[in-house]
Amino acid sequence: MFESILDAVGNTPLVKIPFDSPAAIYAKLEYLNPSCSIKARPALHMVLEAEKKGLLKPGGTLIDASSGNHASAIAMIGAAKGYKVILAVPHKISAEKLATIKAYGADVEVVEVKGDPHIYHTRALEIQKNTPNSFMPNQYLNVANAQAHYKSTGPEIWRQTDGKITHLISGAGTGGTVSGAGKYLKEQNPDIKIIAVDTICSIVSAPDGTPCPYKIEGLGLNFPDSPVLDRKTIDEIIPITDKDGLSMLKPLAQQYGILAGMSSGAVAFVTQKYCKNLKPDDLVVSIFADSGRAYLTKGYY
Ligand code: PMP
Repeated sequence: MFESILDAVGNTPLVKIPFDSPAAIYAKLEYLNPSCSIKARPALHMVLEAEKKGLLKPGGTLIDASSGNHASAIAMIGAAKGYKVILAVPHKISAEKLATIKAYGADVEVVEVKGDPHIYHTRALEIQKNTPNSFMPNQYLNVANAQAHYKSTGPEIWRQTDGKITHLISGAGTGGTVSGAGKYLKEQNPDIKIIAVDTICSIVSAPDGTPCPYKIEGLGLNFPDSPVLDRKTIDEIIPITDKDGLSMLKPLAQQYGILAGMSSGAVAFVTQKYCKNLKPDDLVVSIFADSGRAYLTKGYY
């Protein structure tokens, strides 16, 4: 029994996926978090830190930019704690995610993203400047984002696998998950491989450094110099096309019974390929950040 929805964040299950591989592969079903994604973990940690430091006061307003899941998490936390919430999101956000944010009672501004992938972040900064008694968690630049995964996601995976994990494969947007969980896991065993899955269209992964539009929501290393992104911890960044990532959504649902979100499709694509050549005593944890329920109307399933 929990006293608040916020106490139910974390402790998501690891579920074996029988991909064709000598290794054992487990998906960490982060969509089973409150607000239905992994982003509940860092959003909660960033808000709690801000309260502790006196940056967020009763009656205050939470403002941030998000591809959608961080927004839902902040909207949920705002609802549970009594803060007003305003979010800036990109126009490609799924109808389900947009409706979810509004259902938690938050205000949302949808921003048209053409060339500049930072534009909705810039808009959130603007809104925050003009809103008294407000705080911006600033997930793309706030190290507390990665710290949340260092404190919860990493230790949880270590405990759940009895320290047997050999590879972590996760989607990367802010880079918080791979950096924070990866750092914790490498401190326990430096041989653990940390693999980030990015869109081939991000500032970090675009072949000529020019970002391009892409469909997979949640991915995209577009803040290469952010302190959230700890490149020393990441062994490999694997860029993925929309086509490859989205091709996994139907098989995941219809062969394995896992209704996973778009970035999880990309993670599953990489996992399947990467794990073909692993050894029988390898244990892979692949992070499934959110659910297919958030994208059903996009027609990929
Ligand atoms: N997948 C999805 C669906 C997400 O919403 C996010 C967060 N943007 C990620 C992956 C990447 O997580 P991180 O920001 O920790 O790199």
